[in-house]
Amino acid sequence: MNQIRSLSETPVTALRGVGPKRAERLARLGIESVQDLLFHLPLRYQDRTRVVPLGALRPGDEAVCEGEVEHVEIRFGRRRSLLVHLNDGSGRILLRFFHFSAAQKNALRKETRLRCFGEVRNGPAGLELIHPEYRPVTTADAVADERSLTPIYPTTEGMHQLGWRELTAQALELLERGALEELLPPHCLKGRDRLSLAEALRQLHRPPAGTSVEAMAAARHPARRRLAFEELVAHQLSLREARRTLKALEAPPLRGDGALRRRLRQALPFRLTAAQERVLRELQADMAARRPMLRLVQGDVGSGKTVVAALAALQAVEAGFQAAFMAPTELLAEQHLRNLRRWCEPLGLRVGWLGGRTQGGARRQVLAALAEGSLPLVVGTQALFQKEVAFARLGLAIVDEQHRFGVHQRLALRDKGAGAGLVPHQLIMTATPIPRSLAMTAYADLDLSVIDELPPGRKPVQTALVSDRRRDQVIERVRAACAAGRQAYWVCTLIEESESLQCQAAEETARQLSETLDGVRVGLVHGRLKAREKEAVMARFKSGAIDLLVATTVIEVGVDVPNASLMIIENPERLGLAQLHQLRGRVGRGGAESHCVLLYHPPLGETARARLAVMRETTDGFRIAQKDLELRGPGEILGVRQAGEMQFRVADLVRDQPLLEEAREAADWLLVHAPERVAPLIRRWLGGATRYAQA
Ligand code: ADP
Ligand code: MG
Repeated sequence: MNQIRSLSETPVTALRGVGPKRAERLARLGIESVQDLLFHLPLRYQDRTRVVPLGALRPGDEAVCEGEVEHVEIRFGRRRSLLVHLNDGSGRILLRFFHFSAAQKNALRKETRLRCFGEVRNGPAGLELIHPEYRPVTTADAVADERSLTPIYPTTEGMHQLGWRELTAQALELLERGALEELLPPHCLKGRDRLSLAEALRQLHRPPAGTSVEAMAAARHPARRRLAFEELVAHQLSLREARRTLKALEAPPLRGDGALRRRLRQALPFRLTAAQERVLRELQADMAARRPMLRLVQGDVGSGKTVVAALAALQAVEAGFQAAFMAPTELLAEQHLRNLRRWCEPLGLRVGWLGGRTQGGARRQVLAALAEGSLPLVVGTQALFQKEVAFARLGLAIVDEQHRFGVHQRLALRDKGAGAGLVPHQLIMTATPIPRSLAMTAYADLDLSVIDELPPGRKPVQTALVSDRRRDQVIERVRAACAAGRQAYWVCTLIEESESLQCQAAEETARQLSETLDGVRVGLVHGRLKAREKEAVMARFKSGAIDLLVATTVIEVGVDVPNASLMIIENPERLGLAQLHQLRGRVGRGGAESHCVLLYHPPLGETARARLAVMRETTDGFRIAQKDLELRGPGEILGVRQAGEMQFRVADLVRDQPLLEEAREAADWLLVHAPERVAPLIRRWLGGATRYAQA
């Protein structure tokens, strides 16, 4: 008697038709319990609940239709095909088959009535269905094939839609017996979406006849919203739990005497901005405490986050601890390394390097120096997260461009060792401007600081939108800038995911430009160059030995060449606004007036035009992010999507913005009033991905 057993504890093998092999396939999709199966939601639906008159079909419809066979023929064209003409009195349609047998043809006699299902297309002589499903029907057979919309599930090899339907049908039967816990108390649902979880799941798996396929696809559908809300609450709780787990540990209080920091400040050729000073004070206070700091510093490109991080690192060193600085790409990490060496070596501090390709003796030396504590500072990539990397006294871990690392990677830092059971403080930096409402959801585990001011003297980059029909004029502009001793970037974008195609396109562009622009020294960087080659090209661009740098979007982060004052971005309509903003941030770093040309490919759609207009109108990253939210275009929006930690099954941070605040409130309430529901909620929605719960 296990009917009452909770569905979260009922393994899928309890269902008919699930043996070890199927269980393994399901496990590949993270489906182990019947509850997991219920949360595996359809991607879309087909309507097989009604028969659509032939006269009412439109191209693009996926529909059930019926008609009498008027005529059957075999056409010998480029491909032999069987054509079946149907008529139902309201209209006609043609069924077209390329693969068929003689028996199949013979069964299709004139006046047979057929019921078909398929996608309606415009053919040479009117509407057609290519290879539809079909079966003969008698005139009396007026019953619909299905009583609900037909769900189409995301699937994996060896699992067919029919199989999914059988399994979810069984799961829904079990659901009828009320064995799925309602984890959100009525208080949290506020009566807004009164739908119970079970009802929402029923509607999503089997929308009743009469529901339109479009309505089900819409984000506003109450069933979808009910689940999205619960998922957002679960995510919120998981981040809070991560935070609570870490905050419960102890970190070394890093006070220091300020001597190193004073010396660095004196050596800098500039004064810190008020915003930098304010954020530094926030960091200093956090780091002086016994609770580990967990702070995100948001600051637009060029706002000067690096020097703030360096001063925080020196505070750790003054207190006798080590600091590690990690970045998501070699290029960016290398630039941090150069800056840190330039600032810290004059103070008598060694700065180590640990990249993905640091091997052999060099690697052994760095690891040994970190483990014995003789190396106070280290810069590197993900390589710093590897488990062989141990520190004698790690006081501060700085992570740049956090959205490319997952929350779990950061959690791994806890084990890196500050000595004596202590954990390091964490400083996370991002140049991705995220509106506050979103940041509070996406980074619920972190405290937030914002450097909301650029160093003085920066002139905003002037941005122009130019059609690629005027490419020649743009090339002349590059010539003029280089002749005047300035430098320029030419950024190639390609819609293809393939990195190799991107690189080819960049190579081709570089070749053309250097042919056209004689006297201009053209360099090229793309993702397939070796780190050393990339570095060499960048170094030559920085030293002025290259005038024009052709690049793929690899230069998105990390490049600082103040003399570069012109940037051309090809096909900007293919990129997200956040990414364009980051790219554009590479110019306008020196004293000269800078320009950015968005070389688009006409015609631009209305949204694309509006989005690019935002780039022309403002250089404020936060405003751009807000507009990006409103307009939604291609590419990952705001970089949030990139975050491995932010993968939602139902919710969508952008689309479900109206739910964010309520979800935060619900999470607060649950933590206080129903803490026993927290773990089951997290397990239901984040499954095995949440390992910190075992901390
Ligand atoms: P980001 O926040 O994009 O990482 P960086 O830290 O790379 O910005 O700083 C951009 C440039 O501005 C660097 O060349 C840096 O040395 C310089 N910089 C930083 N702070 C100031 C300041 N207060 N005044 C003038 N220049 C500054
Ligand atoms: Mg930076």
